[in-house]
Amino acid sequence: MKRWLVFTDLDGTLLDEDYGWEAARPAVEALRAASIPIILNSSKTVAEMAAIRDEMQLDGCCIAENGSVIYTAPLHADVEVLETSIRDELVALAGRLRKVHGYRFEGFSDWQVRDVMQLTGLSRVEATGSMRRQATEPIIWKDTQERLEMFIKQLHEAGVMLVRGGQFWHLMLAQTNKGMAMLEVLDRYQQREPDTLWGTVALGDSPNDWSMLERADVGILIPRTDREVDLGRFPGVRRASFPSAYGWNDAILSWLSEIKEEVECE
Ligand SMILES: [Mg+2]
Repeated sequence: MKRWLVFTDLDGTLLDEDYGWEAARPAVEALRAASIPIILNSSKTVAEMAAIRDEMQLDGCCIAENGSVIYTAPLHADVEVLETSIRDELVALAGRLRKVHGYRFEGFSDWQVRDVMQLTGLSRVEATGSMRRQATEPIIWKDTQERLEMFIKQLHEAGVMLVRGGQFWHLMLAQTNKGMAMLEVLDRYQQREPDTLWGTVALGDSPNDWSMLERADVGILIPRTDREVDLGRFPGVRRASFPSAYGWNDAILSWLSEIKEEVECE
């Protein structure tokens, strides 16, 4: 039997600019009716995603901080605690490079809750959740492109990469990404139900989603209003017709109608 898993980015993909997903509700409900799990795969923290999962009534696992943290359900009971804070090390490394080379950038560790609220438009509770980071550090680059490339090279030499998300660049360990975490979760489903052939759908809008889009059986790019993406280097990835939640809704409903025969509605 074939079953599907839907992995999705949040900001700019399932969520609108105001962080709502109401426009995607028909597709979210259609997936639930078809028993297709939705697995959130975002640069957000577990704390932030817990609230969204509750609101969407999702009960599967979720992937936080760009593939760095995989949480299995129930969210609060089965937590994979990281022994050391990778984030602390990333912040320290970036801070050292900034001091030595005079780079101009700011990140979450430089900001107070009110700064994050102002930058992101998140509420106080949401912003506080977004600051509870374990394995990644979002920054805003305020220096030149040339110096950005220099910074990226120095990070790379230390086993760290800088990945472009929607609003921020994300410092993270080089061997981590959303796509690898997606395959890890897929493997868990496959082990739990070995007789089922699991297929993957992935939706995202930014470079930190590419690893997920190119590894999925069905990759769906959600277009952004502020920059164009050339899909030439991602054969097989399709482009949704509209941005964010509305585009998500439309793309998932179209895909569901394609696989209608395969899906066994409960
Ligand atoms: Mg995004």
